[in-house]
Amino acid sequence: MENKTKKLTIAIDGHSSCGKSTVAKSLAEELNYTYIDSGAMYRVVTLFCMENNLIKNDVVDEIKLQEELNNISIHFTYNKANKKYLTWLNGLLVEDKIRTIEVSNNVSVVSKIGFVRKKMVQLQQEMGKAGGIVMDGRDIGTVVFPNADLKIFMTASVNVRAERRFKELSEKGDCVSLKEVADNIEKRDYIDQNREISPLKKADDAFILDNSDLTREQQLTNIIELVNQKS
Ligand code: C5P
Repeated sequence: MENKTKKLTIAIDGHSSCGKSTVAKSLAEELNYTYIDSGAMYRVVTLFCMENNLIKNDVVDEIKLQEELNNISIHFTYNKANKKYLTWLNGLLVEDKIRTIEVSNNVSVVSKIGFVRKKMVQLQQEMGKAGGIVMDGRDIGTVVFPNADLKIFMTASVNVRAERRFKELSEKGDCVSLKEVADNIEKRDYIDQNREISPLKKADDAFILDNSDLTREQQLTNIIELVNQKS
């Protein structure tokens, strides 16, 4: 289905590991829109910090990071044939590296830094300025695109989210326990919701989608109904 009438801006926010990117990718494909994973951008900055010794025990060397931030170039590629989205840091493929539990354990500390957020929001707004975009994250409907045509706030119980993410990581061969995954999800939710700048919260005009008991198809169908009402 291609939306030929109006190129919408669709914001999908929500808690960690609730399947936002899966549903956002399917939606973008269905509508022939661009998909942007804003979380991947914060993960790239975090990986950069880890690889350059700018983070230790949840403390970031903010002075050095601020000096280096403009040297961090992030870009995405999409391969239509295999439907794979890839993330690149300074020309190097980092898609797998940014998805590890180590990066997940550090990302919320990096993403609460004001100058990091300012830069990522600028990049995200630039990427979405032509419309016809589905972007997922934590502050897309509240800060990045407060005038988005459609805002969805996704959530699911911690247990459901932890099990899904644990399965995903185990299938990739990551040696991680279910408890470690659940702890990480709770820690990230806590930091993301309680940070000073752009905390994770539902936009007043967002539709809530609790997908604890929904299949991917059901989630997509629900969102497409909302899209149809907006187009
Ligand atoms: O979406 P994902 O789980 O990959 O996001 C990783 C982390 O990046 C989140 O836990 C959050 O700390 C941060 N993030 C953010 N704002 C966004 C997207 C992600 O702060 N728009």
